[in-house]
Amino acid sequence: MKTELDLTRRADAASPAPRSLAGMSLPALKAEMEALGLEPKKAGMRAKQLRRWIHHFGVQEFGGMTDVAKDLREQLSDTFILTRPEIADHQVSRDGTQKWLSRFGPGIEGESVYIPDVGKAGALCVSSQVGCTLNCTFCHTGTQKLVRNLTAQEIVAQVLTARDALDGWPSDEEDRRLTNIVFMGMGEPLYNLDNVAEAIDTISDGDGIAIGRRRITVSTAGVAPKIAELGERTNAMLAISLHATNDDLRNELVPINRKYNLKELFAAIRAYPGIGNSRRVTFEYVMLKGVNDSLAEARDLVRLLRGVPAKINLIPFNPWPGSPYECSDWDTIEEFAEVLNQAGYASPIRTPRGRDILAACGQLRSESVKKSAAEKRREALDAPAE
Ligand code: SAH
Repeated sequence: MKTELDLTRRADAASPAPRSLAGMSLPALKAEMEALGLEPKKAGMRAKQLRRWIHHFGVQEFGGMTDVAKDLREQLSDTFILTRPEIADHQVSRDGTQKWLSRFGPGIEGESVYIPDVGKAGALCVSSQVGCTLNCTFCHTGTQKLVRNLTAQEIVAQVLTARDALDGWPSDEEDRRLTNIVFMGMGEPLYNLDNVAEAIDTISDGDGIAIGRRRITVSTAGVAPKIAELGERTNAMLAISLHATNDDLRNELVPINRKYNLKELFAAIRAYPGIGNSRRVTFEYVMLKGVNDSLAEARDLVRLLRGVPAKINLIPFNPWPGSPYECSDWDTIEEFAEVLNQAGYASPIRTPRGRDILAACGQLRSESVKKSAAEKRREALDAPAE
């Protein structure tokens, strides 16, 4: 039998499926409307209508958009969809924590975790990258190589998925379960700042998802040169994954410290736009038995934070398969916290949440791997043409 590569059919098969508008920023929606042939002014107006339907009312069909002309609605539904990324897995922990694994594309999967009773009512921890480049030694995500940055739309889509399940649409600000967003999922948000900033614009938009910027926290392992820009562009709350009080230990635990040491990091933190007593910086400190949990280190921490409006989250280490550390003893954590409290710092010990479904801090990881260009080509050729 003769086998021939039918390139025309390949091109057809490769032509993209209709794209979803769900999670798109206002400027991106406007660009899509212009691409449909609308004049810029009209496109801007339509984009605003769409934004409200999609991100305030959460609609998933164009039919319900009553103030959009019928022929445009038809054109929209011929061209676009409003669905969210496929949920490859959804787990609910005994303690009410929920974890979603979103499939953003073939082999591109990332996790988001809803934690009740954090923030005003509950927080969603979103991922900014699939995988990570940082290799912090105690972090499970750090064992997964970077697959790729998530787009702004993919970051926002994680919020849509959670709101679908938790609050429904429209979501009454006074009476929601999802009130806060923390960029503490997979990845380093400051290595994907453009998309993170665009996502925050969409999430905080009062005519859309309407979660205010003060309820959005971005956590970084310490990309010092990007910290000021984060504040200027997003006005979000800042969190720092500190974990050690001297460069030697931090170089080991959080290797990005070799690039930007504590001195440089703290200079950037002190200059963070808008910090003050009503806008404190959160410091995360994972409690590792015999590694960083001595009382001397608690006192060093107090010294290091002097003059910085701060609160400290002590995170009991969450183990993962093959992890090289143990969690500090509970008494040790309490004594450590006491030193910080005595010095006037709020230092809640973060009760581990969702450990049974590997949804706690640092336990997130997906099976996604980055494929080489050769592998992708091979897969495209192996895929059925239809
Ligand atoms: N890359 C960013 C965003 C991830 S936030 C950052 O590092 O800040 C995830 C938080 O969970 C970080 O504070 C991280 O240090 C912490 N963490 C990672 N692994 C953990 C583990 N096994 N147990 C407890 N906390 C962990």
